[in-house]
Amino acid sequence: MTLNGKIAVITGGTRGIGYAVAKKFAEQGARLALIAAHGGERAEEAVKKLTDDGAEARLYVCNIAEPSEVSETAEKILADFGGIDILVNNAGITRDNLLPSLSTDDISDVIDVNLKGAIYVTRAFIRTFVRRKAGSIINISSVVGMMGNKGQTNYAASKAGIIGFTKSLAKEYGRRNIRCNAIAPGYIATDMTAALSPEVTEELTKQLPLGRLGTPEDVAELALFLAGDASGYITGEVIKVDGGMYV
Ligand code: NAD
Repeated sequence: MTLNGKIAVITGGTRGIGYAVAKKFAEQGARLALIAAHGGERAEEAVKKLTDDGAEARLYVCNIAEPSEVSETAEKILADFGGIDILVNNAGITRDNLLPSLSTDDISDVIDVNLKGAIYVTRAFIRTFVRRKAGSIINISSVVGMMGNKGQTNYAASKAGIIGFTKSLAKEYGRRNIRCNAIAPGYIATDMTAALSPEVTEELTKQLPLGRLGTPEDVAELALFLAGDASGYITGEVIKVDGGMYV
């Protein structure tokens, strides 16, 4: 097992892409700290599924947009697990609309969660990575952060910001043997994209060279590669998992 005994923190780890990453990591022997915005039945059920399959997985309810909650949660995780080897900054939201119709909250919520949240979470763990002189940080960006998208100015800006954050972390911590890479998913079938109408989904699918939507597992495969030693000489990269959407 390639992640045997490794401790992985995954934000938004109880559903969608984050859950698929958690499952994939658990299959490879990782111990999991999953951060979710809300507790409740669905999040607990996700954790139960992982533990029923023999994984060690714990749930931490935390709004990553709140720096004080992030600090407290990181302290709890470090007390429970004693360290961290892998961080996946996956939690994210959309509030799509054309620019004049975006409310101030639509703009700040998306930047606060997608960009500032990832920075807060990483800041809370970076000293622990430095002390261990090892680590892999994986940030979930989006192809939209690379190519832009009508109706997603706020979201695209947050995801482009994640790319700058990733490259800066790679430069700041490379000498400490801490790698940082970003994944840019295309159109992946999760709750986030279920909000789109069947007509829009069909139209988007037609334009994809691989002719299908991605699955959370497609993204999880790359996350596993970036988390483990097989990618030991890769840092500062942005890798698309998009079925050719942005060729
Ligand atoms: P999802 O809506 O299924 O899951 C999002 C997760 O983020 C949830 O677990 C939720 O609890 C968590 N979250 C949201 N706000 C939070 C907050 N304030 N604090 C803590 N956790 C919070 O979405 P998904 O499709 O699985 O997306 C996962 C990531 O992948 C996101 O960053 C998203 O932007 C990115 N992404 C998704 C797609 C896609 O097509 N689905 C494409 C490109 C990028």
